Amino acid sequence: MSDRTAYTDVLVVGGGNAGLCAALAAHEAGAKVTILEKAPKEERGGNSALTAHMRFAYKNADDLAPLMNDPDPEVIDRIRQRAPSRDEGELWDEIMLVTGGESDPDLLQVHVSESYNTIRWLREKGHAWVASFEATTGNIIGMNGGGYGLQMRNFALLEQLGVPIHYETSLVDILYDDQLRVTGVRALTPHGFINVMAKATVLACGGFESNPEMRARYLGHRWDTVRMRGVPYNTGEGLQAALAIGAMPYGSWSSCHASPQDIELPVFSLPSSMAFGRSNWVRYAYPYSIMVNLHGERFVDEADEIRALTYAKMGRAILAQPGGIAFQIFDRKARQLGLLDAYDAANATGATSGTLDGLAAELGIDPHGLVQTVRQFNAAIQPGPLNPDPFKKDNKRTEGLAINKSNYSISIEEPPFEGYAVRCGITFTFGGLKVEPQTAQVQHVAGRPIPNLYTAGEMLGGLWHWSYASGSGMMAGATFGRIAGRSAAIAALS
Ligand SMILES: Cc1cc2nc3c(=O)[nH]c(=O)nc-3n(C[C@H](O)[C@H](O)[C@H](O)COP(=O)(O)OP(=O)(O)OC[C@H]3O[C@@H](n4cnc5c(N)ncnc54)[C@H](O)[C@@H]3O)c2cc1C
Repeated sequence: MSDRTAYTDVLVVGGGNAGLCAALAAHEAGAKVTILEKAPKEERGGNSALTAHMRFAYKNADDLAPLMNDPDPEVIDRIRQRAPSRDEGELWDEIMLVTGGESDPDLLQVHVSESYNTIRWLREKGHAWVASFEATTGNIIGMNGGGYGLQMRNFALLEQLGVPIHYETSLVDILYDDQLRVTGVRALTPHGFINVMAKATVLACGGFESNPEMRARYLGHRWDTVRMRGVPYNTGEGLQAALAIGAMPYGSWSSCHASPQDIELPVFSLPSSMAFGRSNWVRYAYPYSIMVNLHGERFVDEADEIRALTYAKMGRAILAQPGGIAFQIFDRKARQLGLLDAYDAANATGATSGTLDGLAAELGIDPHGLVQTVRQFNAAIQPGPLNPDPFKKDNKRTEGLAINKSNYSISIEEPPFEGYAVRCGITFTFGGLKVEPQTAQVQHVAGRPIPNLYTAGEMLGGLWHWSYASGSGMMAGATFGRIAGRSAAIAALS
């Protein structure tokens, strides 16, 4: 792109899942499409490239078979037994439950009712899904090759379709005329600034999770120094540029998705790491543990719901502890149940000891506090069967503690004892822009749509508040990315 000004029908800013779905949909609708991406080509893909699955509604396991290449009847039967269905009502209820009823109902209606259609659309584009039966994962089916596979296939498809993708090109400002009609963007390339003029623009350049100044400003104390699970590129200038022209901020700007990660989580991760067997930092066996802080005290109900509905709020609880760290404590039974297999595979940072005192000393926890907490916890466990099924609660709970545990309460009494050190890792931010749900067109604070401007992915606000249901970000990105791309093409070609 050597000219100082370039022209296109539909401009997509950001090459994550939302952006690439928008580009595919706009191209499908007959528009000439151009993509700008801040990352260099070798690190393309966004956070989307680091993912595993999408959460969508399906009536029964028969809905999943057509998503797989050569589905094996035995695999379909295992799915039928483990996670037989998630109908639209359940998907709606899960999201309303974790967001405390704050998810925008009109947006959520589109998200839920379009989820399976969008998955079928992706299938038609050449993607496939594979089943997963790990003991602690709440995802029965994920993308073939994970988000990395999905993204690389989409890039290949767009290249085949002749869609230009300009890397190392970062949106700086949104251009508009005296009628507030968006006419394109100003972007920074390695060779200086360029104006890309477009009949319609889709902003899909992620949240502000990679920007410490914005994290401190919107999320508050301590969030500036938190480590990221994802790419360093989502620094929020898409949001800032949109707010600067009067786009309506929407959803929860003070909360985010943040989950328990190994204490050695690096400060960020890059998509290329996926191609070379990336380390797995997630520490999601916590529902079967007690989590304690450096004083040996519990600070959260580790399992008020199934893992998929709690993990995104656990990072915040850990960050609030002394030093912003915590420890997941297990006894021999967790290992016997296979709940720590994923930790072994990932070489999780932790310690093992024949005594609780010894474990506390190894991990740097106050031994008196840990021993007392464990004694009280064991004594408070109520009778009843334990069933550590990641898809169902078991009501194996405690009673009488200052903070009770609602499910999966496994006593901690049989050595060896194991403890794993964890920290908060931020995944993405929830604050975004208000859109018209059927078109993903961005709304102005003056109460009307901004002509020719659309958004999708983490830039779209209003779906997630405080917490989130696993697999929803990629699903929303695909659904609203497709809608935004189609709407932008219609606007551009009209
Ligand atoms: C480790 C990890 C695992 C996850 N696992 C899952 C999962 O299994 N399922 C799930 O649903 N969600 C998961 N998520 C969340 C998921 O990644 C997001 O919900 C989803 O990727 C959002 O898509 P997006 O397209 O909005 O953002 P991204 O995929 O992050 O894409 C944004 C793109 O915009 C580019 N960009 C940023 N600023 C600019 C600019 N100024 N100009 C041009 N380009 C710009 C970025 O480089 C990036 O490529 C996970 C996240 C992480 C970090």
